[in-house]
Amino acid sequence: LTEAEQAVLDEIEEHDVDFLRLQFTDILGTVKNVSVPARQAEKAFREGIYFDGSSIEGFVRIQESDMRLVPDPDTFAILPWRQKEDSAAGRMICDVYNTSTGEPFEGDPRRVLKNALDRADEMGYTVNAAPEPEFFLFEEDEDGRATTKTGDHGGYFDLAPKDLASDVRRDIIYGLEEMGFEIEASHHEVARGQHEINFEYDNALTTADNVATFRTVVRAIAAQHDLHATFMPKPIPKINGSGMHTHLSLFTEDGENAFHDENDEFDLSDTAHSFLAGILEHAPAITAVADPTVNSYKRLVPGYEAPVYVAWSDRNRSALIRKPAARVPAASRIEARFPDPSCNPYLALAALIHAGLEGIDQDLECPDPVRENIYEFDEAKREEYGIETLPSNLGEAVDALEEDEVIYEALGEHVAPKFVEAKSKEFEEYLIDVSEWELDRYLETF
Ligand code: GLU
Ligand code: MG
Ligand code: MG
Repeated sequence: LTEAEQAVLDEIEEHDVDFLRLQFTDILGTVKNVSVPARQAEKAFREGIYFDGSSIEGFVRIQESDMRLVPDPDTFAILPWRQKEDSAAGRMICDVYNTSTGEPFEGDPRRVLKNALDRADEMGYTVNAAPEPEFFLFEEDEDGRATTKTGDHGGYFDLAPKDLASDVRRDIIYGLEEMGFEIEASHHEVARGQHEINFEYDNALTTADNVATFRTVVRAIAAQHDLHATFMPKPIPKINGSGMHTHLSLFTEDGENAFHDENDEFDLSDTAHSFLAGILEHAPAITAVADPTVNSYKRLVPGYEAPVYVAWSDRNRSALIRKPAARVPAASRIEARFPDPSCNPYLALAALIHAGLEGIDQDLECPDPVRENIYEFDEAKREEYGIETLPSNLGEAVDALEEDEVIYEALGEHVAPKFVEAKSKEFEEYLIDVSEWELDRYLETF
């Protein structure tokens, strides 16, 4: 066993961990668990744990359904909401292997992200990422089902006692900290019942793991308070939706920020400019991955601080990418504002990173930033500035993904067609549904 693996065994002993959840995610980003008695940890490290993958979304065909989970010891954590006097439950995030070939399974989203990071590594970079997931806390009804009622009356940065949900948020933060998160800030967001908790940046793989964990922890602790936490992008029309802004930067092998250039007007190096240009170029296809639900496109409309147009800015929040002010060279980064928290974080980061690296490979020219409020531009003005519009629904986004070789290939041979199939079906189902809105509008009129 490695040192890290041995350390996990020691912790299991010390905290009386009786069960271990071995976690991975499916293509849609849903966390899956295989629970094993903690005494199997050593075996899991040595041989992996075998499971039947045929029931996991988009994983495998029935004939080749045996998969092997190999836990990553760096991801060991005790589940704070499962702690009892004399026992505890732990979890580890796993890599998935194909039992017949012994190779990493290409349908594992974590693998897809590792492939993107390998490409960065070959170019001499490591990738840092920090997400800003937003979410709503809603009350449950008598049957314990989620409503869209909010228990608080807070506005942006409002303080208690108006913000009754701050108790819950505090418990959520304690829970996250117990699981090893470094919380940077947390605040009430613009909309009623909406919250944001930011955590420390890390390498992109750890960040994706963290997002998956974050969503689980937030939901579990909210549930303890009889609240439902949702990462649905736009649960309530005509108010702000929930985004997951994603900050990105590249570092060189000797720990220098490759995005920083103090002589540049925007404190961005040529590398950063090309990376940014790559994301702009591939934005429509990335949207399918970073905003992967029908509901995502109800958020990407003008007027609610979510992007609609493909442009970048060093000021304006209506842009797809923003350059935040950086106090120290290490903090020079770009903020992609279009991802939302319903995405599979592994796939979304893989798509963003491949697009950016492609921009560097192709030496793409970065357009000028747009400093005005792009929501207020009319079509003529957008044309004058050469500003494209993001796909306006999931169907258009999936079409863009199919047409974009770079992003399609970023997802890999296994995931790309499965993702397109699942999302096309989702969109078709939506198209033939009859919504509340239609009933309200037409039922009695005609
Ligand atoms: N909630 C906004 C969105 O949908 C973002 C607000 C902010 O700038 O934090 O992206
Ligand atoms: Mg926010
Ligand atoms: Mg932000």
